[in-house]
Amino acid sequence: MLLMKDIIDDKNPLIRETSQPVSLPLDDQDRQTLMDMFEYLKLSQDDEQSEAYGLRPGVGLAAVQIGVLKRMCAILIYDYDQDGKIVGQTAYALVNPKIISYSERMAYLKDGEGCLSVNDDHQGYVPRYAKVTIKGYDALTDQEVKIVARGYEAIVFQHELDHFDGIIFYDKIDADDPFKPIPNAMAI
Ligand SMILES: [Zn+2]
Repeated sequence: MLLMKDIIDDKNPLIRETSQPVSLPLDDQDRQTLMDMFEYLKLSQDDEQSEAYGLRPGVGLAAVQIGVLKRMCAILIYDYDQDGKIVGQTAYALVNPKIISYSERMAYLKDGEGCLSVNDDHQGYVPRYAKVTIKGYDALTDQEVKIVARGYEAIVFQHELDHFDGIIFYDKIDADDPFKPIPNAMAI
């Protein structure tokens, strides 16, 4: 299983490298890498497991974050009811995902974004598209998928895909005015 020590931070120059496309069909090693990444997200969002293994909770992880320069990422976002019970999930282990279209409308997280590879505090609004359509291969279901993601989910996808090109969320924060209003954007 993956632990925090396996995740590189933004002081490691690898995080700025460009990840390479993955050849399909997926070989066993790439599949294992993706499944390990997905498992990390699952365990990290389980209170008992995250405490037992010292895992920082995450909803997305790109392969570069464990030092593998391949365009693969895992996503696991739970939907909760008012009592905090899990009632649904957005779960993918994606290979070569690509944004094929996006909305004019923008979105940002009011409280800013975080990243398993970033330990320092970087406050500010990160402008994102409010809706994106993504195409890629999903190793969880073993098929090509077309995903329409909106709001928070759209932001998570864009954050992970940026990692493939060495981009970290705080690169997109206005350095002079981190909380400058973003035109035509919804706050989430
Ligand atoms: Zn990240």
